[in-house]
Amino acid sequence: MRPQSHRVYVLAFDVAVDRLVAARVGLGGAILDRRAVDRPRAGPDLERVVDVLARFGRQLHDAAPADSVCAGVGASYCGMIRPGDGMVRYGPHLGWVDQAFGAELGRRLGLGLPVAVGNEAHLGAQAEQRRGAAVGFQNLIYLHGDVGVGGGIIVGGKLLGGDGGYGCELGHMIVNPHGGRPCGCGSRGCLEAEVGERALLDAADLIGRDAVRAVVDDADRGDPAARDALRTIGDWLGIGVANLINLFNPGMVIFGGMLRDMYPGAAAQVRARIAANVLPVAREQVRLRTSALGDDATLVGAAELGFAPLLADPLGVLTRTALRPTA
Ligand SMILES: [Zn+2]
Repeated sequence: MRPQSHRVYVLAFDVAVDRLVAARVGLGGAILDRRAVDRPRAGPDLERVVDVLARFGRQLHDAAPADSVCAGVGASYCGMIRPGDGMVRYGPHLGWVDQAFGAELGRRLGLGLPVAVGNEAHLGAQAEQRRGAAVGFQNLIYLHGDVGVGGGIIVGGKLLGGDGGYGCELGHMIVNPHGGRPCGCGSRGCLEAEVGERALLDAADLIGRDAVRAVVDDADRGDPAARDALRTIGDWLGIGVANLINLFNPGMVIFGGMLRDMYPGAAAQVRARIAANVLPVAREQVRLRTSALGDDATLVGAAELGFAPLLADPLGVLTRTALRPTA
């Protein structure tokens, strides 16, 4: 007895620094319907975020075919998430500290379903492994560029969560302690301070992913300043990646989020650092790739999180959601 895939869906949400996305996602990861809006970078905004996402979620739910069932809800958030209850412990860029995001969103959706929340880069890593660039890989590293840089490390098929679930903060690996750029975390010379959006856009008085893409386009057209900026970022990124390859011997390193756009202009420097700084036997197998799921990596990861209870206990969940599976 199996649920019919088109009848079962989850609601998936993605809270990035600069945008809010909601989607109805079917079994297998197909995005069936979606809503998105820009998010102003305006400080702690739990109420607005939950307001917008709950409205989107209700719209998606109401627009779903009458014979389909929502089996779960998953959300990706660009911060450090307490496993179990979806509490955002720390979201550095907009000042979220201990915000009960998962509980509030669940309450406002009113579907009687808990909202499972995960860190965006953790979810991106898992999505790429399950449905993207790293299908079949058991050991991989995913770097997600946003304003900062998040990370997901999968070892032996499992995400390294750490003791409290806050592991893989690759963006705060210190690569340039002497005279490095100040980081949003209060430290200096962290990887994300040297390769994140601010490092690229320092000269231009702009922020945001459109500005990042404009610099990348300028570099493609041969603009010397843009090329130099990407090369400098590539060198710091290469130092970070070289450390990670020596530590974890991954089969693949994936560049996602805004790093997906930035990587092609920085790849030569990354490869040069790997050649110079990684132990030869550790670099023999490693593949460097950009995210196959692109801007949807975190959303697809959130959907997988939403489906997890159904996959772990299909009959239990289907009974609770009152879906009668067809034989
Ligand atoms: Zn930092």
